[in-house]
Amino acid sequence: MFKPLDLKEGSEKQTLQPTDVERVKCLIIGSGPAGYTAAIYASRANIYPVMYEGLQPGGQLTTTTEVENYPGYPEGVTGPVMMEDFKKQAQRFGADVRWGMATKADFSGEIHKVWIDDSKLIEAETVIIATGATAKYLGLDDEKKYAGGGVSACATCDGFFYRGKDVAVVGGGDTAAEEAMYLAGLCRKVYLIVRRDELRASKVMSERVQRTPNVEILWKHQTKGLTGDNGVVEGAVLVKNKGEAGEEEVKIKIDGFFLAIGHKPNSEIFAEFMDTDEVGYIKTIPGTSKTKVPGVFACGDVQDSHYRQAVTAAGSGCMAAIDAERYLSEKYS
Ligand code: NDP
Repeated sequence: MFKPLDLKEGSEKQTLQPTDVERVKCLIIGSGPAGYTAAIYASRANIYPVMYEGLQPGGQLTTTTEVENYPGYPEGVTGPVMMEDFKKQAQRFGADVRWGMATKADFSGEIHKVWIDDSKLIEAETVIIATGATAKYLGLDDEKKYAGGGVSACATCDGFFYRGKDVAVVGGGDTAAEEAMYLAGLCRKVYLIVRRDELRASKVMSERVQRTPNVEILWKHQTKGLTGDNGVVEGAVLVKNKGEAGEEEVKIKIDGFFLAIGHKPNSEIFAEFMDTDEVGYIKTIPGTSKTKVPGVFACGDVQDSHYRQAVTAAGSGCMAAIDAERYLSEKYS
């Protein structure tokens, strides 16, 4: 049994000047499969979760089309519909799902503080961080210029539009190899633009992509820019052997330009209080969702650089809610 906070069901709102302050038992930040699953479990455990959805309600899956590998959807489902289903299920058990973006955090005290949209302050006994990760871009102006006109960071989302056409994938890791092979099944030709003379991808993936007949690997190539009319990609300008003897400019004709150079976990506002790896992924105690701060838990892609699947994110969201419930239970026993 929980000793009641100063709360009844849900959360009690008090209006304090100059900042709006609200105290909750369980705050969930982020609304992908991890966040919604945490909300389902936390609601059913009666810890009255309040969830802030963030900038992209539903998370990365809302930018995908068909999801065919999530168990329970034998015919497949679109990412946005699946996320809407998750949300409805969380709300059915009373999760308080809200618009808003966490902009600052302070985990230095026993009560954890998180500011929403730089104004409202949430004081939470437990916080579940489910803020996900964002695809990285090269930082070229042309990526913005041709956004929506051939530049994409998700082959499984957008590959369909390039059936029978020529495309390029940038990157040399497992994601790039996987995306190149996926696109090879749809497109006439796939260039894999690799900045070094070897792939970072695992041996099995490297071998597989190198064996795929319509994938051409452009070793030691870097992208300088994109070309095309009316905001639609028609080609890319690459530099081979940049900064070395034999440096040369190479032009390729493509209709689609896919980035697969890694992801950036959305952990900045929490990083000061967390252990993170060199990329920024939050470290959790193995086998749990616990971070080094008691009462703060992390789940989904913000703490997982490896699997990054909807189903693994959902599983870790379940773990986070169970860990939060047990934390509160122990605190008040
Ligand atoms: P990685 O960080 O593993 O690879 C990123 C790739 O992008 C590297 O080849 C890197 O080059 C290249 N790159 C980075 N920045 C630039 C740049 N500015 N210009 C050109 N190239 C650049 O990211 P992934 O997303 O591929 O993988 C992340 C994790 O997820 C890994 O642990 C991976 O194993 C895992 N994963 C596993 C899968 C599976 O098992 N099925 C599928 C997908 C991912 P360089 O090598 O020179 O640094």
